Amino acid sequence: MAEQTAIAWCDATFNPWWGCAKVSSGCDFCYAEAFDHRTGGDHWGPRRTPRVMSDRNWREPLRWQRRAEETGVRRRVFCGSMCDWADKNAPAGQRDRLWELIRATPDLDWLLLTKRAPNIARCLPGDWGEGYPNVWLGVTVEDRRHGLPRIEHLRRIPARVRFLSIEPLLEDLGRLDLRGIQWAIVGGESGPHARPMEAAWVESLQQQCDAAGAAFFFKQWGGRGHDKGGCAIGGIEIKQWPAIVRAAVSAMVPPSMVSAP
Ligand code: SF4
Repeated sequence: MAEQTAIAWCDATFNPWWGCAKVSSGCDFCYAEAFDHRTGGDHWGPRRTPRVMSDRNWREPLRWQRRAEETGVRRRVFCGSMCDWADKNAPAGQRDRLWELIRATPDLDWLLLTKRAPNIARCLPGDWGEGYPNVWLGVTVEDRRHGLPRIEHLRRIPARVRFLSIEPLLEDLGRLDLRGIQWAIVGGESGPHARPMEAAWVESLQQQCDAAGAAFFFKQWGGRGHDKGGCAIGGIEIKQWPAIVRAAVSAMVPPSMVSAP
C-alpha cells in the first residue's frame, strides 16, 4: 500500500495481499517478484502462500476516502501492484474483503488490472450488476498470444470503464478490436532486462485509439536508463484519460498534461 506512487496513471496503490505466479511473457521480469525477494519475501510461484496484509493496510483507503469526501477530489487507486486481484490462489476471504472495502469507498476510483482475464467474471461480487460506479476493469496486453484473448474476456464484462495496460509492449499487436474499450495505457519495458519496443508499434496503437475514440496514455519508451526512455512522442507527452473523468483530472494536473482523445 502506498499513498504516493511512481505509477503515472494512478494516485495510490493498494495491495489486498502479496504474492502471485507467472502466467505469461509479460511476467518474465516481474518487478513485484523482484521487490518481494529484495525485501526478504518468498511469495511467488504456484505453490507459495501469499502474504496476508495487516489491518492497518486495510484501513488506509478509508482514510483516503475521508480526504476525498473533504476535498471533493476523487483519487485513482491501482489495486494489486504486488498481486493479481483475480488470482484463484488469493488468500481465503481476502477478495470478499476487498469488495467490502471498495463499497465503503465510493469516492475512490479503483483500477483493477489482471492478466487472468478468464477469472474476472467469477471473481466479481454478486451485486456487480452493470458494474460498480467506482471500479475500472483492465487487462494486460503485452503480446498477441496472451493479450488479445484477454480483450475479448474484458469486453464481455459490464464495467464503468474498461481499460488496457499495453505494457510491456513486446511486439506489434496488429489490428485491435477496441469496441467497448475506453482507455489504453502503453509503455515499453524498463529495467536491466528490458526488451525493446519499436516506435511503429506505438504509432499503430495511437492511431487505432484515435480512430476508435479510446483515450491513449503513453507512459514510457522503456529501456535501461533511469528515465525509462522518457514519455514524449515526437516531443509531445500524450496522457489522455477516459471521458468520464477527464474534467476531474483536468483540475488535478497541469493542463499541458491532459488532452482529449
Ligand atoms: S501477473 Fe503481475 S504480479 Fe503476477 S507474476 Fe505476472 S507480472 Fe508479476
